[in-house]
Amino acid sequence: MPVRLYDQLVGGAQVGPGSPTGFRARKGSRIRSLVRPAIAPLLDFLLPPCCLACGNRLAVSDALMCAPCMRRAPGLDDDVVALQRARTHLRTESGIEDVNALWHFEGPVRDLVHSIKYGGLWSAAEAAGERLGHHLERAPDRWLPDLIIPVPLHPARLRERGYNQSACIARGVSRISGVPVCENAAVRTRDTATQTSLDHLRRRKNVAGAFRVRRPEIIRDARVLIVDDVVTTGATVGALAQALLQSGCRACAAACLAIALGDAAQPEPPGGSGG
Ligand SMILES: [Zn+2]
Repeated sequence: MPVRLYDQLVGGAQVGPGSPTGFRARKGSRIRSLVRPAIAPLLDFLLPPCCLACGNRLAVSDALMCAPCMRRAPGLDDDVVALQRARTHLRTESGIEDVNALWHFEGPVRDLVHSIKYGGLWSAAEAAGERLGHHLERAPDRWLPDLIIPVPLHPARLRERGYNQSACIARGVSRISGVPVCENAAVRTRDTATQTSLDHLRRRKNVAGAFRVRRPEIIRDARVLIVDDVVTTGATVGALAQALLQSGCRACAAACLAIALGDAAQPEPPGGSGG
């Protein structure tokens, strides 16, 4: 698939156990950001970027998705009620102060998230993160974080997939906001991805205590923005927020590409970091 090869040539660093921390990875990002503009036009010519939803070739003016897919992508900007419902849900259940997202998890957005998650498209995930970063910067009631923490994958899942899509999205958000990312502040101690068909309550029980804070000194008194690809039941970001708050972080908010809290009983996509 050309888009995958394109991403491997232009894309971001692989994240794995023992790989650089978020802070050090930013140095690598600077090197890539110098190299990328130099070779990107040539690669665009040889391997034209494709729509992450339908796979059609992207026009020069398009990013992530082609124009028809982008038109069908259900944005949250026009759906204040859904966003407010999601915020109330997360605040009540997990103490998360704010949540923001680009889209509803529907239509072409499902295909985009699937591509980012399973297609090896690290730089596409970072580009989606940049789009999310711009969205957060423009939000009228912007929640100001000190630190960004992506939802960690279980080490077994990380070895299998080779990268954490949420960490890539977090790097994109960081590039726009200037807020540092720490990818190893917390670890996932239980692989819960096999329990994908659980309903909301069972899923909450399932992920409770699934995260452990490894670096409490970094999060102490900090306002932390948790970044994930999709928030479906809110159980996963809620469990991570609980772990962070219990370890001394001052406040938590969440940001994701897409949200599906309209149906809290909806199962998350298989193998996700989110839920
Ligand atoms: Zn498309």
